[in-house]
Parts: sequence; C-alpha cells; structure tokens
Amino acid sequence: MASTKRTQPAWSSGDVAETCRLKLFNSLTRKKEVFVPKNGNKVNWYSCGPTVYDASHMGHARSYITFDILRRVMKDYFHYDVEYVMNITDIDDKIIRRARQLHLFEEYVKNATDCKAVQKDVLLALDDLKKDFEQVDPEKKAMTLKAIEKLTLVSQLVVNSTVNNLQSILNEIKDPFGAYLDKFNTEDIFDNNIFESLPRFWESDFHSNMASLNILPPDKLSRVSEYIPDIIAYIETIIKNGYAYESNGSVYFDVVAFDSKPIHHYAKLVPEAYGDTKSLQDGEGDLSGSTVNEKRSPNDFALWKKSKKGEPWWESVWGKGRPGWHIECSVMASSILGQTLDIHTGGIDLKFPHHDNEIAQAEAYYNNEEWVRYFLHSGHLTISGCKMSKSLKNFITIGDALKNHSSRQLRIAFLLHSWKDTLDYGESTMESAMACEKILNEFFLNVKNVTRRVNVQALTVGYSKWLPSEVELSKKFNICKENIHAALCDNIDTKTVLEVIRECISSCNIYLRDCDSSTVNHLLLLNIAKYITGILKIFGIQTADEIGFPIGDGNSSNNVETIVTPYLNILSDFRDSVRSIARSAGSTDILILCDKLRDEILPDSGVRLEDFDGKPTAIKFVGREAIMNERKAKAKAEVDKLAEKERKKKELEIARAKKEELKKIHPKDLFKLETDKYSEFDENGIPVVDNQGNKISKGLTKKLQKIQSAHAALHKEYLESIEKI
Ligand SMILES: [Zn+2]
Repeated sequence: MASTKRTQPAWSSGDVAETCRLKLFNSLTRKKEVFVPKNGNKVNWYSCGPTVYDASHMGHARSYITFDILRRVMKDYFHYDVEYVMNITDIDDKIIRRARQLHLFEEYVKNATDCKAVQKDVLLALDDLKKDFEQVDPEKKAMTLKAIEKLTLVSQLVVNSTVNNLQSILNEIKDPFGAYLDKFNTEDIFDNNIFESLPRFWESDFHSNMASLNILPPDKLSRVSEYIPDIIAYIETIIKNGYAYESNGSVYFDVVAFDSKPIHHYAKLVPEAYGDTKSLQDGEGDLSGSTVNEKRSPNDFALWKKSKKGEPWWESVWGKGRPGWHIECSVMASSILGQTLDIHTGGIDLKFPHHDNEIAQAEAYYNNEEWVRYFLHSGHLTISGCKMSKSLKNFITIGDALKNHSSRQLRIAFLLHSWKDTLDYGESTMESAMACEKILNEFFLNVKNVTRRVNVQALTVGYSKWLPSEVELSKKFNICKENIHAALCDNIDTKTVLEVIRECISSCNIYLRDCDSSTVNHLLLLNIAKYITGILKIFGIQTADEIGFPIGDGNSSNNVETIVTPYLNILSDFRDSVRSIARSAGSTDILILCDKLRDEILPDSGVRLEDFDGKPTAIKFVGREAIMNERKAKAKAEVDKLAEKERKKKELEIARAKKEELKKIHPKDLFKLETDKYSEFDENGIPVVDNQGNKISKGLTKKLQKIQSAHAALHKEYLESIEKI
C-alpha cells in the first residue's frame, strides 16, 4: 500500500467552465454567430471604400471609425492575424460627371475674354435652371434657389468686370455653371486623364481625414482603375459560366439564370429586395440612362458599361467601355484575398444592391456558395435626428466635425454606441462623450497624483499587507476585467465596456476618498489605470505610454511630465510648508502669493494644483491647452450665470411693474379687462355672463368677489400713495 503513494497521484483538470467566445452580428443570418475564421488565426477582411469625388463627411466617419474599432479589437484584443483590404472607387458615374463639369468649366474660364458674351451665357444657364425649377426634387429646391441667386448676381457682376477679374467671379458659380455647360456639351472628351485628377485629389483628402481620426490605414489598398484587365477577365469567366451576357456593347449579370441554380440565391442579404428595381437602378449610376431594352430582365445589372461620348473608356472584347460599380469589389477582393473572405464590411446602405450583387458575382465566378463568411454592416448616422444631406443643410464634413470636437471625443461618441445601430450625431451625443472623457481623464490624473511620489528604486514599497478595502477593490477590478471580456465577445460591445470602466473608476474613487493618502495602495491603482489605458488604446484612442491620455500634441510632452514631476513635487511640498507657516503667522500677502502660484503661474505651464484640507496638495499635469480650455469654459459658465441672473432680475422687475400698474385700476373695472373670459357684468363690476354666453356660477361669483375686495385694498393703497405726493 505504502509503495503506491510513492508515485504521483492521478490529476484532473476538473470541470472546464464554458469559455466566452467571440460572436459577431452577421448580416447573412441577422444573428450573432460564433466567429470562426476559415484558416486558424488568419482573418481575410475586405472593406468597401469610398467613392472619391468630394470631401469626406460624417457618414464616412460612421463606417470607417466603426471598422477601425472592430479591426483593432480583433487584432489587438483577440490577437487575430488580420489582413485588411480596402478599395477606392475612382471610376464612377458621379466622378465622371463631376470631372467633366469641372473640365468644361475650366476650359470655359480659360477662354473667357468677352464680358458681354460671358454674361449672355450666364443668363442662358440661369434661364435653363429656372425652366427646370418646377421639376426639381423638393429636397433639392433650396439648393437650386441658392444657385439661381448666385447666377443672377454673377450675371450682373460680369458686365462691369475686367477680364482679369472674370475668373474669380465665375468661380462663384462653378457648380451650376459647370452643370449647365455639361448639359449642352457636344465635345467628346477622349483624354482619360481628365477623369483621374479629381479622384486623386479627393482620395488624398480622404486619407488625411482618416489619419486625423486616428484610423489605421488599410494593409492593402486597391483602386478600380488599376484592375481593368482583371475585371475584364473576371467578367469573361462569369459569361463562360452562364451567368452573364453581352448586349449592345455592355455586359449584364443574368439574375434569373443565377437564381435558378439550386446552390445560388440572389439577394442573400436582403431577400425581400428581390425585384426592387428602383434600388437596382440607383445602383446602376446617374449616367446609365435607359438600358431596359438591353437587359433580359429588369433585375439584371451591369457588369460592363459601353462608354458613351464624354466618358472614360478601356478597350475590351465587347468594345470601348468601363466597369459597372459592383464588379470592382468582387474582383479586387478575390484578386488580393482569394476565394473566401472571412469578413466583409461596409455601410448599411450598401447591403442592397451593392453587396448582394457582389456576392452573386463572386459566387458566379467561383461557382461556389460561400464567398463571404461574416458580413458586417455599420449602422446609419443621423444628424440631430434627421438624415444627413446636402439639401437639408446638415451636411457635416469630417473637417467641420473636427473643428468642434477632438478626434478622441468623436471616437468616444462612437464607442458609446452599438456599431451596428443608428448613431445620432448631435449635441447630446457629444455631451455624453465629453462627460465620459472627463471621467476618464480625471481618474488618470488622480492616479498619477497619488502614485507620483512612489520611489521606483524601493521595489518593496507596494508590497505591504492589503487592507480589506484593497482586497475589495482588487476583487471589483477582476470582475471588471471579466465583464469587459464578456462584452467584447458579445459582438464587440464597446458601449458596455465603457460602462464597466466607469463602474470600476467609481469604485477606485470611493477607495481613494476613504483611504489615508499616505498608505494608498499605488500598485493596485497603477494596475487598474494601466489596464484601462490599455483597453482605450485597443479602441484606437491615443494614450500616453503608461497611463492616461497624452498631454498636448501627444508626442513630446509625455517625457516632459516624467522629467518635471520630481521638481513639481519639491515645489508643491515647499509651497505646502510655506502656506502652513503663513497661516499660523497670519501673513496674508504670502498666502495670496501661494494662491497666485496655483491659479495663474502653474496653469500657464499646464499644471493644475488642487488644495485639500489636511491632505497634501494634488498635482495634475493636465497640459496648457486643456487648462486654457477649462478656463474658457469656466469663464463662459460665469458669463452665462450672470446673464441668467440679469434675465431673472428683469423678469421680476417687469412683474413688479405690472403689479403696480394693476393697482391703478378701479376695482369695478378689474374684470372688464378680461374680455377673453367674461362678457357681461353687474353694477359692481362682477362678471355675470362668460364670453361663451354662459351664466357665471355662484361659486365662481364668490371667488371673484374675494379677488375684487383684495384688489380694492391694493387700489386704496395706491390712491393714498398719490395723495401723499
Ligand atoms: Zn463594394
């Protein structure tokens, strides 16, 4: 028996608790599904990029900040090996139209020397716009009216202008006049370069906007214009597989042929949109015109478009043409990422027809039925409850948004919303984001303050026996980490993560409030602050190296804080001692000087001191800009308070004056003024019939008599007062 004890006993891992697994809301099933990439840890990800013909707006921010957060969490929290590919649509009907209008306008301006002739043309453009005004979409009426106003003004200005000034005057009407020139354009623009410079300009603008929002650049970027041969070859295979046909120099996808095959389903994402020809037509582009006779079925869509006059073209087996919109994504994603995508992302507006057509094209090409495994769509963005549109004048570019709020505040606003639901960009959303930012920032400053005196050389300092309050806080911290993990597994629910972080911060604040500052458990607090900083960093918020947000521009100042802190400690301790001596000696001058150091001198250098009774002064390295903003906000609040006080005072004065005025009225005339209530009165001036013709009740008569006698006393007072004068 004894000998059996000399071997190792049996071991069991016990019951393994169900582990939390990442689930993502898949538009293909409209459910949260466990995320399983096809090849182990590798994640192939394709994201539909922008069509570059104008400034990026908040709608772009909605998609690209959202995908940036998802991508960072997948990469840096779940540690997937993500390959993120995004396209740039640089061939598109909107780009073509805009580039052509711009080209025609510039050519016109270059040759404009005769002011009279220019005026004639501007007046013709004005007439043309006025003629079409009744047919204009109601949403666009306001914009058209503005264009009419501008054209009218310019038509008057050009006659008296010099040739040198013509260009700058005409620039005012670049859009409507360019559109007019394009409408009657008989010129054939053969040079494809005309259609290149506009998208290049706006693509570069898009990238710089993305960088200012701290959105990671894609691992690979593809432009349609660089994939024409691939697109032609892809379409040829689809035709060979029996799912597309050539018609009058264009190629169309044969939806009926595709849908009739048992393995294929057309409109997998939005089956209810099958036959929605309006959406399909919108997806075909502005310049497509009527192609009804070319299509076998109205559900078919263009893969290749025959180029018309004034459109860019590429040589193909079907003649001169250009790709349809949807085909580019299927081709580029396949070319770079292969036969199956683990994740495909895009804005919710792209679901039908764009994404459904992309799926159909790729399945028709590969003859398979699983091109995309997880289709993720970012939710809509509204502006104070309304759809964003240029015609509603609530069109907000990313540049505009960044004038009012920092990129950090915008990202926090996004993190406070579910990525797949509608986000309303408005005052209350941004106020919540700023409140959240403040809670986080104050927490980091507090932790930095209480831990700043820790001597890093004495490594044993933090290892004293934990008090019950510290054991409790540590337990809460562990629960916080578990809850954050669960929230991230649950469709990357950043909103819940921030709620959990706020709860954790409030537990820390309670601990800090109740503990003795000399024995504060700085190791525990540092761990919590570092963990929270780490999560924010994963979410794409710029953070300092160890704790909190960067100070100032986020580059050089972190070092400044590290270097300056020991000297600030010395200065603050010295000030504390001086204040205590000055207080006992009753030396007001010295106390005033100490206050000046706190309120004026140090804030100018970005340092905030906070004095507490019986505790050492808190030192917070906030940054000069932040302090200046705090000061401005404080000054504004004071001005607002004063204005409110003034308003109330005025209101009171008016009420008092009214009361005084009322006193002058003879009691018998008191109710006669209330013509909206009463119509007949007795000899004492008491109402007997109301203005509806009903007799006044006895109860009300009594009440009115009471009011009248109270008024009589006031009136008497008034008479006496004027007698005295
Ligand atoms: Zn796409």
